[in-house]
Amino acid sequence: MGSVMSRILINNIDWLITMDPDRRIIKNGAIAIDDDRIAAIGTTKDVGANFSAEKIIDATGKLAIPGLIDTHVHSTQQLGRGLADGCDIAVHLLQRLYGYESEVMVDDAYWAALCCQLEMIRAGTTCFIDPGSYFPEQTAKATGVSGMRGIVARTAVDVHQTSIGALPEKMFRETRQEAVEKAEKVVRELNGLHDGRVRAWFSLRVLVACSDELIRDVKAKADELGVGIVMHACESRDEVVASRVQYGMQDVERMAHLGAIGPNMVLIHMGWASPKELVLCMRHDLKISCSPSCGYRLAFGSMEFGRFPEMLELGVTVSLGSDGAMSSNYLDIVREMFLASGGAKAQRLDPSIMPPETVLEMATIHGAKAALWFDEIGSLEKGKKADIAMFETRKPEWRPILNPLSNLVYASRGGADTVVCNGCVLLENGVIQTFDEASALQEAQVRGSRIANSSDLMKKAQPKWPVIE
Ligand SMILES: [Zn+2]
Repeated sequence: MGSVMSRILINNIDWLITMDPDRRIIKNGAIAIDDDRIAAIGTTKDVGANFSAEKIIDATGKLAIPGLIDTHVHSTQQLGRGLADGCDIAVHLLQRLYGYESEVMVDDAYWAALCCQLEMIRAGTTCFIDPGSYFPEQTAKATGVSGMRGIVARTAVDVHQTSIGALPEKMFRETRQEAVEKAEKVVRELNGLHDGRVRAWFSLRVLVACSDELIRDVKAKADELGVGIVMHACESRDEVVASRVQYGMQDVERMAHLGAIGPNMVLIHMGWASPKELVLCMRHDLKISCSPSCGYRLAFGSMEFGRFPEMLELGVTVSLGSDGAMSSNYLDIVREMFLASGGAKAQRLDPSIMPPETVLEMATIHGAKAALWFDEIGSLEKGKKADIAMFETRKPEWRPILNPLSNLVYASRGGADTVVCNGCVLLENGVIQTFDEASALQEAQVRGSRIANSSDLMKKAQPKWPVIE
């Protein structure tokens, strides 16, 4: 891996947003990094004078925050961008998304994950949770190369006929036992890889496609191995209706009914959680991943009908996720913060709801809690891992800076300028440090075009207007 430095000093940070327990914002701040951890944090005057560094990063003009945490990222779908626009959930999921996924080969999955991480690093994200694919090894391998931190999982489903249609023949055709065994093997082999930057969990990808027995088995295995489980839950009206028709209740009620529920579960979307399910979230310390962009792009209604402000008031961990290139179509937690804030305001006709402070907590502290990693990431504090995102503020949309949190969430276009993860510089002054960006983009174009053709989805992705060559 590229620029590994054991002692780095970042000084002259215009605005250092620590997210520490006092939520201190330090002007002219500095962070001293020793190996993978923060050795000291404070003002440039205090920290800089007492630390001998091998590399100094001058952060004049920059705002620093903890590396953003994206709790909903489909790495493998990165090469299918644009193949699933404008269709209802049954077509989106069963024909487009799974049609694409069933054409993805091992090498495609590697490049998809690397390009996905390229997009995330450029957005200031340092940690992600992938809710499961059939290529967790490739996502882990890409994470080794990119220098990011992430949680991977292998999809487990065992119900092949759902009330919105059948799952494709080429994939998902596993028995419960096969699904559990393969998922467990992934946890045992990948958890803790690459200096601990990779963790491996279980994935109950879509709960309506998981039998009661599978849910129970996976929960027991996750508890036994001390890892988490990630799943999509209460994601759209179609999905909750499907669950009520098939199982007599919605996803969270069903897990409670099965006794397979607990704080090591990350529930994605949750815009259609019932009042009873809100209480279950609080009682069982379930972790939520709110994905506003996907809710808007796929017309889930999650921001219009979801109860995310109530969840936060109840003390539930509500993090932010951006989904994938085929669902939200982009991966940028700064934009998600704006949408989470704006979505709640529009829903309640209340401009004071979900202020910048709240959504930044969701993107950092709550993300770290959802990832079961809060002891090491989510805030910039001495002893925590050095995961830092910095944004260049010498730009028109950033000026003047009176309240930097307001500028970051409401005004900025996002796009980090310098990113550090686990004490390594991944992006410096806009240049990727750990791999060759140009060849990754080239691979994305060639492989994405091939998959679009072989899956017969290419014609669905064309503009309605004539293209002249
Ligand atoms: Zn998803």
